[in-house]
Amino acid sequence: MVKADFYETLGVTKTADEKELKSAFRKLAMKFHPDKNPGDAEAEKKFKELNEAYEMLKDPQKRAAYDRFGHAAFEQGGGGFNPGGGFAGGGFSDIFEDIFGEMMGGGRGGRARSTGGRERGADLRYNMEISLEESFTGKTAQIRVPTSITCEACTGTGAKPGTKPTTCATCQGSGRIRAAQGFFSIERTCPTCHGRGQTISDPCTKCSGQGRVTEERSLSVNIPAGIEDGTRIRLQGEGEAGMRGGPSGDLYIFLSVTPHEFFQRDGADLYCSVPISMTTAALGGTFDVVTLDGAKSRVTVPEGTQVGKQFRLKGKGMPVLRSTQMGDLYIQIQIETPQKLTKRQRELLQEFDQLSSKENNPESTGFFARMKDFFDTLSD
Ligand SMILES: [Zn+2]
Ligand SMILES: [Zn+2]
Repeated sequence: MVKADFYETLGVTKTADEKELKSAFRKLAMKFHPDKNPGDAEAEKKFKELNEAYEMLKDPQKRAAYDRFGHAAFEQGGGGFNPGGGFAGGGFSDIFEDIFGEMMGGGRGGRARSTGGRERGADLRYNMEISLEESFTGKTAQIRVPTSITCEACTGTGAKPGTKPTTCATCQGSGRIRAAQGFFSIERTCPTCHGRGQTISDPCTKCSGQGRVTEERSLSVNIPAGIEDGTRIRLQGEGEAGMRGGPSGDLYIFLSVTPHEFFQRDGADLYCSVPISMTTAALGGTFDVVTLDGAKSRVTVPEGTQVGKQFRLKGKGMPVLRSTQMGDLYIQIQIETPQKLTKRQRELLQEFDQLSSKENNPESTGFFARMKDFFDTLSD
């Protein structure tokens, strides 16, 4: 059965936007509604077709699939994706933040997926490493991926130049065979020619009878700002070419973000551990940190700052993917104890120590007092 084109059914052009679709559907649905046309089978059929067409076209993903593959996109087993979900069309880069687990959903090694000789091309995986700075700004990356093109030597027939494929004797060229099963007659792909309808006795040596050869091609990939380590980006239809007119597989970009020398990342927030001198911690002071946006931020350390103290620089973290929000940068204070003291320094510190009171070091003083109490009660 040949199905009418969804766009024609709704009487709109292929470029119709959501509003046009909706109003066209409304108008026609009113006209052919069964309530308005009681007993009119033709109107009922038309009404059903309208519904189906609108259901498909109002969903951007299904619409993209339909634009690409026509009705075959939604036939059972056709094309290699299911219309209910999982398939995301339309986007040049669909971001999937989920991780490997359910990877490829069976699409991997997609050659097994055969529909009457048309085979979906295999999915491809490309590993890409970017720096934290690149994740911060986002970038357009040029990558080279292997792709299949028609073999020039045999012009895609798969037969050795000078020879021709011959009509398959098993299926007489139809690519399908019928087999009786009980009351039913089942049609299936011809096992001899795998649905091609032709067999090649003398395969082309350049492509080993495949009719296509592998070449590299250049592709530009948009890496959005804020992307995280472990993200995968799907480029729909950019995988291996299908066989004999089958749809192409998808290309998956697996992103890893190189660890940074100064910044650790947690979601959109960044952490930076900053060592300051013991005297700065005691007397107070300031220091500058360079942030990923290339600017400098001044941090003021108050007198008596303790190790582990955190300062938040609001909005100085990573961009939140697909938003204008920014994470924060947390400065974590480390305090460096001075080493290799000179004689004079030692004298000064000893003098300082003699002048120290309990109030100067409430934590350590208190700690040892509490510990002493603890052992005293044990020995009682
Ligand atoms: Zn060839
Ligand atoms: Zn055959």
